[in-house]
Amino acid sequence: MGKVAIITGGGRGIGAATARLAAQRGYAVCVNYLENRAAADAVVAEIARGGGKALAVAADVSSESDVVRLFETVDQSLGRVTALVNNAGTLEKQMRLDQMDAARLTRAFAVNVIGSFLCAREAVRRMSTRHGGKGGAIVNVSSGAARLGSPNEYVDYAACKGAIDTMTIGLAHEVAAEGIRVNAVRPGYIHTEFHALGGEPGRVDRVKQQVPMKRGGRPEEVANAIVWLLSDEASFSTGTFIDVTGGR
Ligand code: NAP
Repeated sequence: MGKVAIITGGGRGIGAATARLAAQRGYAVCVNYLENRAAADAVVAEIARGGGKALAVAADVSSESDVVRLFETVDQSLGRVTALVNNAGTLEKQMRLDQMDAARLTRAFAVNVIGSFLCAREAVRRMSTRHGGKGGAIVNVSSGAARLGSPNEYVDYAACKGAIDTMTIGLAHEVAAEGIRVNAVRPGYIHTEFHALGGEPGRVDRVKQQVPMKRGGRPEEVANAIVWLLSDEASFSTGTFIDVTGGR
């Protein structure tokens, strides 16, 4: 059976590093993105240059119809999905909880939580032996923030990642006997453009002294853990977590 991976938010940062590595490991890769088509196309072109197969698909993971279309596109173009990386995520300007309004909270949970649930649903419908599938693996990209809570920055975002951790455990147990493994990675402070969303592009350099290893991480270091959890080398691991945080 061909290996087919969907990487949500695969155009930039951790998702792009994961897409490149998955392609090197023989997956046909769907590089999902929200709006930065040029970045997603560049990842696809790089994979093609290396002899791999990849496809960029625009879809907002918080939109149910977009997610359904994303998976149907992959069915038709690459074949039945065998690996899902729930990587797309977002955050908003740093602020205290006592400043947050309902609209902000709704946006955060729609992308970070509901988006991952919808993608997981579509993956399970295709992978589960209960639905005639042949199994597969899901990796959720959580965050060290799920443990730390991100006080004074984005407690909403951290709480979304806490929800993802709980979903990882619950779904893992739900589908463990149906050929699907579900695990998560918790990145720490990683050098990507993500921090600009919070209004502080240089955040990693400010906070890195709190990290026992005294540095931020690289997207490739997170991708290594994600792709290992997807692989058969992790065949007896489900409902578990790898922290890629430099010790914090
Ligand atoms: P990034 O460089 O900002 O990339 C985010 C990617 O997600 C982009 O490809 C973006 O698409 C896509 N995306 C955003 N909203 C989306 C939506 N609604 N639907 C589909 N795609 C969407 O971020 P990153 O640092 O690689 O973060 C990736 C994941 O790691 C996130 O879940 C984040 O919470 C988690 N994480 C990051 C860090 C860190 O320090 N960087 C730490 C812990 C956890 P466009 O390119 O089209 O904008």
